[in-house]
Amino acid sequence: AELPSDTNLENTRRQVENAAFSFVKPKKTAQPEVLHVSQEMAAELGISKEETASEFFKNIVTGNEIYPNTSPYAMCYAGHQFGNWAGQLGDGRAINLFEIEHQHKNWKIQLKGAGETPYSRTADGLAVLRSSIREYLCAEAMFYLNVPTTRSLSLSLSGDDVLRDVLYDGNPAYEKGAIVARVSPSFLRFGSFEIFAARKDTKNLKKLVDYTIKHHFSHLGTPSKESYINFFKEVSERTLKMIIDWQRVGFVHGVMNTDNMSILGLTIDFGPYGWLEGFDFGWTPNTTDSQHKRYRYGNQPNIGLWNLYQLANALYPIIEEVAPLNSILEQYKIDFETQSLQMMKSKLGLVSSDEEDLKLIQELEDNLQLVETDMTIFFRNLSRFSDETTALKLIENAFYDLKNLSKEVENRWNNWFKKYADRLAIERISSEERKKKMDLTNPKYVLRNYMSQMAIDEANKGNYSLINELFELLKKPYSEQAKHEKWFAKRPEWARDKVGCSM
Ligand code: AMP
Ligand code: MG
Ligand code: MG
Repeated sequence: AELPSDTNLENTRRQVENAAFSFVKPKKTAQPEVLHVSQEMAAELGISKEETASEFFKNIVTGNEIYPNTSPYAMCYAGHQFGNWAGQLGDGRAINLFEIEHQHKNWKIQLKGAGETPYSRTADGLAVLRSSIREYLCAEAMFYLNVPTTRSLSLSLSGDDVLRDVLYDGNPAYEKGAIVARVSPSFLRFGSFEIFAARKDTKNLKKLVDYTIKHHFSHLGTPSKESYINFFKEVSERTLKMIIDWQRVGFVHGVMNTDNMSILGLTIDFGPYGWLEGFDFGWTPNTTDSQHKRYRYGNQPNIGLWNLYQLANALYPIIEEVAPLNSILEQYKIDFETQSLQMMKSKLGLVSSDEEDLKLIQELEDNLQLVETDMTIFFRNLSRFSDETTALKLIENAFYDLKNLSKEVENRWNNWFKKYADRLAIERISSEERKKKMDLTNPKYVLRNYMSQMAIDEANKGNYSLINELFELLKKPYSEQAKHEKWFAKRPEWARDKVGCSM
């Protein structure tokens, strides 16, 4: 059949063989408007504030103009989704624009929501304002929390309406279309390697690994089995470090499919993520995962390991030895135990070591799950702990149902506080020093789901000021910010069980 003359062949959906990416063109949009720019990220790229206000910048970050002499492309990757092999996926709604080198750092700039690509499958390649606000704010919030992450450069409206849902009455529900420009040293994922292994394309697999080592792990040296093994080892270590940080701040990614796992160990693809409010190992923000809860808070470290197994399988054809891969995976489990203990100790302000520490922490985790107890408020207030007689009062703000706290729950907490007081007594640092340390590891402000929801509701009415307020707040998550004290609060009742959506 003849294709219409305006058909964009580059962007046509298809299986892409023997290639790691496809050239594509972003879609022109009706009325682009930049809503917010991360000036800090722009500065990292060498882009001045004046430049970010220009027509040119707007056109570039909304895909309406292609930077001279660059060739945008979408990447091909595969993945395991919810434990099952999903075959070819790829950048279905992400388009890489170009690289920027500034101050000896190399960054890739990518648009999310700029139209279809060969990998869009049945979807439209677009993004709505709702999910874009969530991604835009969260990536920057993670950065300031010192969690390894991809970054955000800008949030824009496309001016087009996007169809996301059909309402119960059969009417289509349109939402404002949006585009996030995001930034990372690399957007390669575990799935980028899995695709070649699945196709038994060892030649291109090796090419991609060599490329990745050369550009991102150059300290590992020239291509050899040894450098491939060390590459896997380092990816494993970085992945664990990232997940330990997630556990520390109470971040639940929600879709830890292997196509959402960065090869650099950066948090990527902020979809149906959420932040713990009540501390609960079983919690997941992802409503499509509510039955098995595969990606629940307490399971993230295991899933990291599961995903690394898939990566090990993908790299096997160029390593051809099982033992070194297995020992790296075994080491992940050992390192997890050590690092998670270390992380929890830092949350408690414990510097020295005691053989009862693990027990003390396990009892704390049990206590935190007795009744709904806000994780962020609990740990933040705990830094002012002085003794067990005043402790309950100090953390009562963290309880969602303080009025109905049973005597038994109170007793269990008082018992724990007694042990904690005894444990602190053998520490050598002063309470002031301890408070300072704890406040650098226990954030005061995180992007609670209701906060994004409020910014989204306002934005849908055309008011974007809350996006800026939250952006500014989350730049200093560990600092006291008197004018922002209202954001140091439990989730309001109206927001219970309301979680964001990724699409
Ligand atoms: P995610 O679960 O968001 O990481 O997406 C899984 C896969 O679906 C990726 O290949 C995405 O690029 C693709 N995808 C998600 N949303 C869209 C969309 N609106 N249009 C095209 N592809 C999409
Ligand atoms: Mg993804
Ligand atoms: Mg996504």
